[in-house]
Amino acid sequence: MNQKIRKEDALYYHSKGRPGKIQVIPTKEFNTQRDLSLAYSPGVADPCLEIAENVENVYTYTAKGNLVAVISNGTAVLGLGDIGPEASKPVMEGKGLLFKIYADIDVFDIELNTKDVDEFVRTVKILEPTFGGINLEDIKSPECFEIEARLKKELNIPVMHDDQHGTAIISGAALLNALELVGKKIENVRIVVSGAGASAISCTKLYLALGASASNIAMFDRKGHIHTARTDLDELKIQFATDNKYDSLESALEGADVFLGLSVANVVSQDMVRSMAKDPIVLAMANPDPEITYPDAIAARQDIIMATGRSDYPNQVNNVLGFPYIFRGALDVRATEINEAMKLAAVRALADLAKKPVPDIVNLAYNESNLSFGRNYIIPKPVDPRLLTTVAPAVAKAAMETGVARFPITDWDTYEQQLSS
Ligand code: NAP
Ligand code: MG
Repeated sequence: MNQKIRKEDALYYHSKGRPGKIQVIPTKEFNTQRDLSLAYSPGVADPCLEIAENVENVYTYTAKGNLVAVISNGTAVLGLGDIGPEASKPVMEGKGLLFKIYADIDVFDIELNTKDVDEFVRTVKILEPTFGGINLEDIKSPECFEIEARLKKELNIPVMHDDQHGTAIISGAALLNALELVGKKIENVRIVVSGAGASAISCTKLYLALGASASNIAMFDRKGHIHTARTDLDELKIQFATDNKYDSLESALEGADVFLGLSVANVVSQDMVRSMAKDPIVLAMANPDPEITYPDAIAARQDIIMATGRSDYPNQVNNVLGFPYIFRGALDVRATEINEAMKLAAVRALADLAKKPVPDIVNLAYNESNLSFGRNYIIPKPVDPRLLTTVAPAVAKAAMETGVARFPITDWDTYEQQLSS
């Protein structure tokens, strides 16, 4: 899929018929004068008054509870960089499409013309009444960290910057399953991280939450290993600085168990992969071209477990495995936030799902006859219909267990039936 799309096809797809990829569709009947008098004046005044009396009624009488804002300022769009808010709109509409088809969540995409953190935060804050949740998207580092942290604190609805946490959650599930396959414990493995940007930092934080040991992690940015003797580190990178010092990515990879790449193409060679420990796990996720190509890595050694961000090879770390279902679960219990426990619940639900027998519909979609848990299948496939009924309830339960669910679910069977209908 990554290479086979032609420019003219992509442009035609977006421009044909009504331009863009989304529209608004009424959910109530509107055929008669009476319908219209209910939908608008005078009938609409009654729900208004109910909500004015008790603001929680907004979830009963409006679309708020199923409406997510996908918000960007266009400063870090895909691998395209700072292309501006208008140019980010196709991506945000696309995210809306994915939310809808995978989790039946409605999205307003919102592209903000500002790079100022205060202005961004203030704008999203005053949009809160409209939405059930906020998916921050494609905002450059380091602003993305402050924007998300402040909005999480100031808003009473779930907020998640998907570029940070989505990748962390999916790759975390991949890592847990890969480690299980090779019989290694996360506490003991040595992890080398190439990249110290938004996604590398949040992946590394999540791996620490999953049990990885800080002293076993070596992180690299453009200037090399992040160690305590460096004087150029900002507060984000300094958290990962270690006292020991590697001269190069190459020397750090010798004997390492895990490589996590969220940097740029072609910084890892076949020899570097060969120098890693037995059964190395390589998560090379620079997009569109990974730190080492899938064919090169696989050719370098047979005992490797390899994942990339690409759809044309096995083990694609694709955020679409996470965000639709994480927001579904969070919205359905009216969670006030998406917290660490909810993210970890999503990681474990994804990891567990990959170990279950794969339905025919998934095999068919990928032209496979028997996908099963193993080196070439460590995370579920995006078309798997069980993602909705597995990940969303796990996230909802974690929200309830951590006391952030304002509308707890009591009948889980009925809930799961509703999800799959
Ligand atoms: P980012 O915030 O711009 O961070 C990029 C990081 O890579 C920076 O820390 C940068 O170092 C570092 N870097 C650049 N060149 C390097 C080199 N030659 N050696 C080592 N480090 C180098 O970007 P991001 O959003 O985290 O994304 C990083 C990459 O991951 C992109 O290719 C993106 O497409 C990919 N990604 C993939 C997925 C997925 O597959 N699901 C998800 C998210 C991101 P400095 O800090 O020194 O500038
Ligand atoms: Mg993104």
